Amino acid sequence: AAVVGSAGAVGAGATADGKAVALLANIGGPDDVAGALAAGAEGVGLLRTEFLYLDAEHAPSVEEQEGIYRRIFTELGDRRVVVRVLDAGADKPLAFLPVGKEPNPALGLRGIRALRAHPDILRDQLAAIARAQSGTSTTVWVMAPMVGEPAEAEWFVAQARRAGLATAGVMIEVPSAALLTEEILVSAAFVSLGTNDLAQYALAADRQLGTLAHLLDPWHPAVLRLIGISAGAAASAGKPIGVCGESAADPLLACVLVGLGVGSLSMAPTALGAVRATLGRYTYDECVRMAGLARSAGSAAQARAVVREAADEL
Ligand code: PEP
Ligand code: MG
Repeated sequence: AAVVGSAGAVGAGATADGKAVALLANIGGPDDVAGALAAGAEGVGLLRTEFLYLDAEHAPSVEEQEGIYRRIFTELGDRRVVVRVLDAGADKPLAFLPVGKEPNPALGLRGIRALRAHPDILRDQLAAIARAQSGTSTTVWVMAPMVGEPAEAEWFVAQARRAGLATAGVMIEVPSAALLTEEILVSAAFVSLGTNDLAQYALAADRQLGTLAHLLDPWHPAVLRLIGISAGAAASAGKPIGVCGESAADPLLACVLVGLGVGSLSMAPTALGAVRATLGRYTYDECVRMAGLARSAGSAAQARAVVREAADEL
């Protein structure tokens, strides 16, 4: 394959033959924006908003939230930011949002389920985002976490519209949502694969249990096949699909994800340089070939090995 660019080179992401793949940053608050831009992020593919609610006894006011969003949008200028609305519950418990005792919090009232139980929290958050957006040149997309049903996507898109936010999408991080991406995209404007949770739920391995970490591998062909189904549906619908889970930060897996049909990759800013360099080494067809090999492997270890071998030969 042609060698283009060098590790850490700053520029738009692309395969060796020039197929654009937006390389975006995952950030957890306003203090992360400068670092993301310095690392060459083309925008923000995941703004986790839990920081606004952690350690709070009450939900923050609309004005308070608006100020923080405006600070982030102003710093991003005319780039894109995907704001994920509050993802409470399970690994992200909140003091002011009691869910009661649940035997399996990861399967409980979390993400969009918690927002549907507390619609006032979502209403205030969407209002703050809409107010902060007005007067800036930033392209603001909003996104709901833990959607498992097309009806949940439809509900979220309606809430976003009511707030004046035109581009609303959802995370695909529950296997049912991956399988029903086609139906979800009837209402959603885009989807973003949360591979941390998608792997957790597809492989039935709690992401908080260190003892099961060896089972929780995003290279697992079961996870890759779900991603392939989701990407196929997005292509048919002609709507954007990205990845914002940690898997996008693994340079070779990033190539596999592109080969599966993913159009943007969002990751920790520190990973952007290596992913940009590796992606620039392979053509889109080579990424498709790697994706095919990984997808038909019998285990995560096998998928990693066959792709590594193929990549070394290219
Ligand atoms: C994910 O689940 O992959 C994701 C990006 O969301 P979080 O890690 O915040 O749950
Ligand atoms: Mg998640």
